[in-house]
Amino acid sequence: MKILSGIAVSKGTAAGAAYIIERQLRPAISAEALPENERAGGWKRFTAALQKVRGDIKALLETPDPEQQAIFESYLLMLSDTDFISQVEQEYKKQNRRIEYVLNEKVEDFASKLRVAGDAYLSERADDITDVFGRVLNELLGVKRFDYSRLPEGAVVVAKNLNPSEAGELAARKCAGIVLEEGGVNSHLAILARNYGIPSLFGVPRAVSEIANGDEVVIDTQEAKVIVSPDVQTAAAYLTAIEQEERRRQCVAQHRQRPALLKDGTPVTLLANIGTVEEARIALDEGADGIGLFRTEFLFMQAANQDKKKGKPISSISEDSQFEAYREVLQIMKGKPVTIRTLDAGGDKIIAAADIPAVKEKNPLLGLRAIRLTLADTTLFKTQLRALYRASVYGELKIMLPLITHVAQVKETLRIIKEVHSDLTREQIPFRANTPVGIMIETAGAAVIADVFTQYCDFFSIGTNDLTQYTLGIDRENTAVADLFSEFHAGVLRLISYTVQCAQTAGIPVSVCGEMAGQEEGMKALVGLGVRRLSMSPRFLCEAKDILSHYTLDDLERVSAKAFARLPQIPLGGPIR
Ligand code: PEP
Ligand code: MG
Repeated sequence: MKILSGIAVSKGTAAGAAYIIERQLRPAISAEALPENERAGGWKRFTAALQKVRGDIKALLETPDPEQQAIFESYLLMLSDTDFISQVEQEYKKQNRRIEYVLNEKVEDFASKLRVAGDAYLSERADDITDVFGRVLNELLGVKRFDYSRLPEGAVVVAKNLNPSEAGELAARKCAGIVLEEGGVNSHLAILARNYGIPSLFGVPRAVSEIANGDEVVIDTQEAKVIVSPDVQTAAAYLTAIEQEERRRQCVAQHRQRPALLKDGTPVTLLANIGTVEEARIALDEGADGIGLFRTEFLFMQAANQDKKKGKPISSISEDSQFEAYREVLQIMKGKPVTIRTLDAGGDKIIAAADIPAVKEKNPLLGLRAIRLTLADTTLFKTQLRALYRASVYGELKIMLPLITHVAQVKETLRIIKEVHSDLTREQIPFRANTPVGIMIETAGAAVIADVFTQYCDFFSIGTNDLTQYTLGIDRENTAVADLFSEFHAGVLRLISYTVQCAQTAGIPVSVCGEMAGQEEGMKALVGLGVRRLSMSPRFLCEAKDILSHYTLDDLERVSAKAFARLPQIPLGGPIR
């Protein structure tokens, strides 16, 4: 067993027999002077080769993949670039050398100028130029392209480099994976490998000499490695992973575009939990009805980690960079609701910046975290609220406040929001004043006065991770007490149920965004308790649709009643404050 490392450019796990594609080497191109009587013939051969390659590329335009079509269209433009062709012609007349020599020099010159620009995008466009004019050169030299009909189906292709125009052929031969010695994440071949879903690792040094034709290989893009001749155990573990991925792919294809419905047609809204802009794209792809929780602390963590000067205040993350991220997520979600949570730092989310005092607290989880922290630093809070309201005009924003325990915290936030509104109005910056503001129910104290909170906010989202932690007094990260941590504890279920009833009575939406919503038994119990909005990891959305479609509301109410049976319900509307 041998392990090689590289750069993961297209995600997934693949296994198969290696097939080494070694290019037919181009013969050396002679630099000797060309006799006068062969000149005209050279130019004719060049224009004929151009014509032939144009025809080949036009045939490739048939592909149904729009991205690949765009690449081939750009190839056709390059082949018709009169400026470049007339430069080749001038050089050909001037140099008195073979057309192959002149063309090769011109292409190399052009490509190397793009490469030295030091820009990844331009350098990868250089690969496109060498790909398309390489085809012309091969025509002139009589070099045959690799015949893809020879490639066995399901092979893992190993090569020094491949051309983007070969991606379609690889997909047609059901290539299981690609390992290249060269290439980068932004190359057209990488883009196409992602589109075709071919797991690929590029930049694997000496792959062609380290791997032999027919070797069993596994590509693991999560670890960015290729395992050559894996032992029996390793191979079996990867085969299981591949089967799981395949099942997931089928599930996604089946459920992505259809709404989540119970067996009896009851609709359930499925939302995604995200921490980055990139995850919003995944959420949309996986068919999310919106974003139920955008954990903004990850933006702050990234910014703080990037900040070499430790000790710079956390408020250093600018309003503009926050605005850009929020706007992008709203635009990606194209009018679907996006719930963005204000900074939930402190406690278990330590941000490498100076003014998070959690590290100095005796009980950080019970200390200055989440809404408590932002209310203590109004500059930080206002900066985020300004960015949120500025972004509000780009979609269906909802603002969510974490770890609310006191009505006074909501009132104070609403007062600060009013100040932000007046500032933006004065500065003539557009915003949506009626953006819903909701709270997370994450403590027993908040759940028990949920009826009161309905008067001060527009929606609830139940954070079952913290609700369980704080209700049972069990650190959610401590493995020593992990067996006691359960959202199914009747005390937790009772608080969830009461919160849901209060929201229903007041007519405000209630969702669940803790991990319970993304677990099979959890989502079943929640829907049985009356929850119709579940927010979970985007990768679980399709499976959730599948699970829910097997049960009627009656079935699920029985599931939750069983879990709930141990305690009587709290009567609604009691003066519990
Ligand atoms: C929760 O507590 O359930 C929740 C969703 O918030 P977080 O996990 O970010 O604390
Ligand atoms: Mg929480």
